[in-house]
Amino acid sequence: MFRAALFATTGLALALPAMAEEVNIYSHRQPELLQPLVDAFSKETGITVNVAFVDKGMVERLKAEGDRSPADLVMTVDIARLGEVVEAGVTQPVKSAVLEENIPEGFRDPEGQWFGLTTRARIVYASRERVADGEVTSYEGLADPKWKGRICTRSFTSDYNVALTAAYMAHHGPEATKTWLEAVKANLAVKPSGNDRSQVKSIWSGECDISLGNTYYMGQMLANPEEKVWADTVRIVFPKFEGGGSHLNISGVAMTKAAPHKEAALKLMEWLASDEAQAIYAETNNEFPVEPGVERSDLVKSWGEFTPDSLSLTEISDLRPAALKLIEEVDVDAGA
Ligand code: FE
Repeated sequence: MFRAALFATTGLALALPAMAEEVNIYSHRQPELLQPLVDAFSKETGITVNVAFVDKGMVERLKAEGDRSPADLVMTVDIARLGEVVEAGVTQPVKSAVLEENIPEGFRDPEGQWFGLTTRARIVYASRERVADGEVTSYEGLADPKWKGRICTRSFTSDYNVALTAAYMAHHGPEATKTWLEAVKANLAVKPSGNDRSQVKSIWSGECDISLGNTYYMGQMLANPEEKVWADTVRIVFPKFEGGGSHLNISGVAMTKAAPHKEAALKLMEWLASDEAQAIYAETNNEFPVEPGVERSDLVKSWGEFTPDSLSLTEISDLRPAALKLIEEVDVDAGA
């Protein structure tokens, strides 16, 4: 429209450069996390990337915009939210040899509706003072009565805890999962509330001794003077599932059905899975690169090695509704 108007009034359209390529992203993620990636991509390709931070109502917005949506890509965290946009029918499958090669099978949708870009583990933050080395080893062990009055967590109906519970179900079945939830509820020090970082604050203040949390929050806390004090009182322990490993979730990307800039959007998706982008992710977000060949940041390395669980995100995603139902039935959030 702008060019047409210019042409009409000045006749200079031929002298204008070709319309620059662009990609529009709707992101659930904090814009600061994406900026270094977007800048590097634009510098390399000349493609402009516009990021709209969509905190709530992503699916509703995409549905309302329909075919006229300006969004090409959706970027979000957690298999739950990726699943939500896919189920709403506002994404399209993407087939790309680059994405298939760089992203391990368990971290992308077999149909190409979503792709994981980073992984994070759901781990235990343990008081350096009150929890000995080797005291926490498994998720199952959180049911042990020795933890009575010592566990803190955010709501169990939060996406992160629902995914963990779904993974528990995949390993042990619904009945054992129910028993586990009841035991964890009985071990809570306080009613679940707040976020993963406020649980670490509760360990710092002496309210509890261990909490559930995602790995990258350690990086975030260390970077914030107030929260660093809390972070310094805990260490990261990677619990395992009996017969499995530590529970992982992802951040990821999906292409919208409307995608007005499909080609440029695919270029960006493939670039996000490249060594270069994966290294930026590792450095700025303190997450694990999804691409096996890319190194973790020094801070992330300092947390030690662990065995990732072998469940695929698709298996976990399928069990989410059943897991949430159990959590509500047991009413874990009413504990303590
Ligand atoms: Fe988070």
